[in-house]
Amino acid sequence: MRYSWGELEVDIICESVAEFFLASEFFPQFDANAIVHRRERLQPDFLTSDNRLRLSIHSWLLRAGDLNILIDTCVGNQKKRPSITQWNQAEFSYLDGLTETGCSVEDIDIVMCTHLHVDHVGWNTRLEDNRWIPTFPNARYLFSGKEYEYYLSQNRMSPANRGSFDDSVLPIVAAGQAEFIGSGYTLAPGVIVQEMPGHTPGHFVIRIERNGLRAILSGDVVHHPIQIWHPEWASVACWDPQAAGRSRIELLNLCVESGALLLPAHFCSPHGAKITKYGSDFDFRWGEKY
Ligand SMILES: [Zn+2]
Repeated sequence: MRYSWGELEVDIICESVAEFFLASEFFPQFDANAIVHRRERLQPDFLTSDNRLRLSIHSWLLRAGDLNILIDTCVGNQKKRPSITQWNQAEFSYLDGLTETGCSVEDIDIVMCTHLHVDHVGWNTRLEDNRWIPTFPNARYLFSGKEYEYYLSQNRMSPANRGSFDDSVLPIVAAGQAEFIGSGYTLAPGVIVQEMPGHTPGHFVIRIERNGLRAILSGDVVHHPIQIWHPEWASVACWDPQAAGRSRIELLNLCVESGALLLPAHFCSPHGAKITKYGSDFDFRWGEKY
């Protein structure tokens, strides 16, 4: 798939699609009765008949003029993740997906992690001679300074990281390729980073506003389309569920007001949605299928 807006293009690189969690385990407030009248819009591509969430794990490759910007880097290969079988020492064909976009690892100029959870930093590094080295040798890797300090000082081994801070973040810092940024950072003309905390302390979204077209690469502010109907349903992986809910509503309102296409990190195909609002309730229609 490719969205193309003049000299701006967005490609998807999909690492995996799987039924990971029971909705009631991942969203403690999940109530099947609350969605019974519209579950046909989710089933079977996003929700199974026995209420398992179907999630995609993917990167977005944003090409802005001469810059190739990779947003989030999925789970990665050969990482020890014993608590999640599908991710443990995995062998995904992710780099083939990158090649299909016409980019090599050497072509990536910027790696931008929306946050530092295990499924957003994995391809930051690859294993060579028993050492984790940067996968993208010419890239600057941009991390939230706030997020980095939090995991460094307080919560390095949090369950959401599962060891990824050590094997996928610290080696980038050691290699001198990390840069720490804050809200408002401009990646390219019309491509701006904005902090929306809650899922993690320094979670970023990337706002694209250029050539009259708008999109928001929103990481995990919204995990699943069910949360568009129920933005108050935070995930068990959220650092501050209340703040996560506030950021989700802020994001959805921003999409409504600006007409931006919402491009989250885990929506299955067609991956992107346009948000609508009726009273205080949000709804969506799918973006272009690809
Ligand atoms: Zn995620």
